[in-house]
Amino acid sequence: MMEKYFIGIDVGGTKLAYGLFDRACNLIDRFKAKTNPELEPDEMLDEMCTHIDTLLKNNSLKRSDLMGVGAAFPSHIDYDNGFIITTSSLPKWDNVPVKKLFSEKLGVTVEIDNDANVAAIAEHLFGAGKGKKDMLYITISTGIGGGIIINNSIYRGSYGAAGEFGHMIISDDGYLCGCGNKGCIMSLASGPKIIRYTREKLEEGCHSILSAMVENLDDLTCKHIQDAANIGDQLAIDVINRTGDLLGIMFANLYQIFNINHFVVGGGVSKFGKPLFDRFNEKFRKLSKISYAYPVNIVPAVLGDDVGIIGAAALMLQ
Ligand SMILES: [Zn+2]
Repeated sequence: MMEKYFIGIDVGGTKLAYGLFDRACNLIDRFKAKTNPELEPDEMLDEMCTHIDTLLKNNSLKRSDLMGVGAAFPSHIDYDNGFIITTSSLPKWDNVPVKKLFSEKLGVTVEIDNDANVAAIAEHLFGAGKGKKDMLYITISTGIGGGIIINNSIYRGSYGAAGEFGHMIISDDGYLCGCGNKGCIMSLASGPKIIRYTREKLEEGCHSILSAMVENLDDLTCKHIQDAANIGDQLAIDVINRTGDLLGIMFANLYQIFNINHFVVGGGVSKFGKPLFDRFNEKFRKLSKISYAYPVNIVPAVLGDDVGIIGAAALMLQ
């Protein structure tokens, strides 16, 4: 019997990650490369074909051993037509019929989806949402995004942009968001905006150990804030509490809309860990009037950096 394999690709603004999986979705091998944002989509897809051949060759396999290739892009995607509408981190990747181009080059079936949807699928099948009929996935990192699982399948919306929780407006104040609005949760509680807020507090003269932790305030990271909070720095603690309160408002809004009782939270900012989870849980419970009779769980994602390649490969299982 011929064994069949899948490849899952996580296309990011800075790196490309490939995973080779068997039919039970066990990760067999991986390959990594840098993204070259200067390349035209056609050239980059050629490069991706070469990467795939290398990964296959390293495992004594050929393209004919593949049942399919799934790819996650940081893009707004028309899933049914396998078409990328826009990609903010890769400006050349607008209006690209990726599924058609890539499958013609490879000679293998290709499926593409948005990276947050793919992560939601992975956590639902193999991670912190396993066994849940309905689930919301929320990722908080450079931006804020998410995926909606209803009745065990991803809900993409009429135009493929369902789950873009980051542009939920929760205030009429705050920094300008990439979308042109103010007060999007993403413009308040994403990693870069948390850092910007902290830096501004320091520049205003707020006393904190953070000033001594970095030579230049431009080097400030969420890890510094976490370390400072761990040793009791008040500004760092306040920043995490503020982030938790803002996210608690978003979760309360999501619960009002979906009435889904299982939230999985991933992304770099979630690494603030228990202090952040405790804070947004408290805010969420207060706003949503959650009772013990109808529990709602907000749990950390478990698949880590592999979530993209696992979810991309899992597109082929659908
Ligand atoms: Zn926005």
